[in-house]
This record gives sequence, C-alpha cells and structure tokens, in this order.
Amino acid sequence: MRSALGLMLASVVAAVLIAGVWFLTVSPPGSPAAPQTIAAAQAAPLPAPAAAKFAQPRDDVEVTGTVPPPAAPVPQPKSSCANPDALGVARVVEIDTTGGPGFGFEHFKQLDFLADKEVVLTFDDGPWPANTPAVLKALADECTKAVFFPIGKHATYHPEILKQVAAAGHAVGAHTWSHVNLNSKKMTEQLAKDEIEKGYSAVRFALGSAPSPFFRFPELQHGPAAVAYLGTRDIAIFSCDLDSFDFRAKTAEQIVTTVMTKLDKQGKGIILMHDFQKHTAEALPTLLRRLKAGGYKVVQMRAKAPVQTLPEYDEALVKEMKLPAAGNRPVGSVVQTVAQ
Ligand SMILES: [Zn+2]
Repeated sequence: MRSALGLMLASVVAAVLIAGVWFLTVSPPGSPAAPQTIAAAQAAPLPAPAAAKFAQPRDDVEVTGTVPPPAAPVPQPKSSCANPDALGVARVVEIDTTGGPGFGFEHFKQLDFLADKEVVLTFDDGPWPANTPAVLKALADECTKAVFFPIGKHATYHPEILKQVAAAGHAVGAHTWSHVNLNSKKMTEQLAKDEIEKGYSAVRFALGSAPSPFFRFPELQHGPAAVAYLGTRDIAIFSCDLDSFDFRAKTAEQIVTTVMTKLDKQGKGIILMHDFQKHTAEALPTLLRRLKAGGYKVVQMRAKAPVQTLPEYDEALVKEMKLPAAGNRPVGSVVQTVAQ
C-alpha cells in the first residue's frame, strides 16, 4: 500500500516537473502566462502611464510561480543590488491609509510601529534638478528605499525627475501645490483643500499614474480642519520623529552630525530631509554609510492602494498647464504607419 502510494506521489511530482520545464521552455518572454514582474521587465517601452504603474512596485514584488523549477533560475529583481555591503531595506511595511492615520512622534503618537534601530527615510520639496537625482543615486548605491513628498508645482516643472523617483521603487506622496502654510491665519478650509488636491493632481499629472495617499504638511504645520479633511480622503499624514534641519545646514557634514546625534539619542524614527537641498544630496552617501555602521535598519513604507485624485482638480490642472489631454501620449499611440 505504502509503495503504491509512493509510486503515485512520484508520478505526480514527475508530471509537475515536466509541466514546469514545458512552461519555461514554451512560454515566450513576456507572454501573458509569465509572472507580471518579468513581463514588465522585458516588455518593449510602455507608454508613460503604464510604465510608471509597473515600475513602482517592481522591486518589491516577489516573483513566484505555481511550479517552482529548481534548475531554472528566474530573474529576481530583489537580488539586483550590486553592493554586497549595502544598507538595504530590512523590512517593508504596507500602510492601510483608511481614515488618515498619522505618523511621526513629533505630532502623532498613536502608531509606534518602528522597532529600536529602525529608521524611515523621507525627502520633501522636490523634484529638483541635480539634487533629486543625486539623492536617488545615493539611495540606489545603498539599495535602499525612501518616501518622497514632492511639491505640486515642482512636479509640473520636472516631471521626468519625479518619474525617476517612482521608477526606482520609492513611495511618492504629496506636499501641497505651492508649499503654503495650511495652518496660517489667512488660510480657509477651501484654500487648504485646493492646495492638497491640486498637489496630488500635479503629482499624478507628472507621474502619469496616481501617487501614494501619503501627505506631509509644509513646515509640519497642521490644523484640525485639514487633518479632518485628509481623514475623509483616506490620506495618511506624515510628521517626523527626527528633523534633520538640513535646509539650515551650512555644510553636508552638519546634516550627518545632526541626524546621527539625534538618532543615537532617540534610537529610531522617521527622518525628515529635503531632496531639494544641495547639502542633503551631498551628505546622503556618508549619512547612509553611518546608518549602516551604527546598526540602523531602513524600513520601507508603501501604501496599500494609490490615492484617488479628484477629477475636477485633475481637469483644472491640465487646463492650467495649457496642455491638451493627449499631450502625454507617446507618439506611437498617436501616429501609426498603416501603409508603406
Ligand atoms: Zn517642505
């Protein structure tokens, strides 16, 4: 009885292995049956919106198949880190932004999700030429991930740089349209809403796809009405645990010293920096090495679902940019050779 069962099991295993080998041999690269990440990596250049959609989660998605073939190596985007001593990412957390949770002990103390020695890297006010690409390079060299809070206006000035941020697998939220203080005396609820929504629509416009429902108030100035509004929009609010004060720093070294001194005292936290600032871009390679040397670990935060931008703000922004809606389409989708 046992040997008959063994025989049956063996033939099932053999059939599965054969099926696996057949699948790998027969399936052309990028076929609909292949895992999505591989298809995305091998497909011909996609139109901008689709490319952004695929590019963002690519690094984070485990490539799994129903038939794991032991002998055939499957390309693993995760192992693409060329630096064996990289800081890397120790843990990936997915954030359900329903109801607008707040993060960062400077203002929100309910959600204490970081363990001792864990940090989250965040960058505000970009995208900006030279500085944002330098920040991206430093992060890529250490195979680590961050959260970016771009200013809407800057996103419309430099959409190609913001696309690089998303394509590198970082989370992209928003930081208002024009970086006004939403908690000032002159601010009305309608103006605050306009700043928030237009900011998201601008980032969406730049990326070609919806960003994460992550928001940071300019100057960390939050008022109760705006906080309540973000709650109704299911947008998470990011304050910080640790301000680098990099916008005040006179040198890159000063930023490294400020962050490491605060971190060694506090032990963990969400670190606020600015990819807009030249000194921050200069400080980052050293800072990331110091984090690694100090035993700190990076936690990557990503959203469970993208933000739902409001159509009226999307449309108003397109009009304001004086661009036809078709302006974003790749030439191949507008002009096709039908006879030659
Ligand atoms: Zn800012």
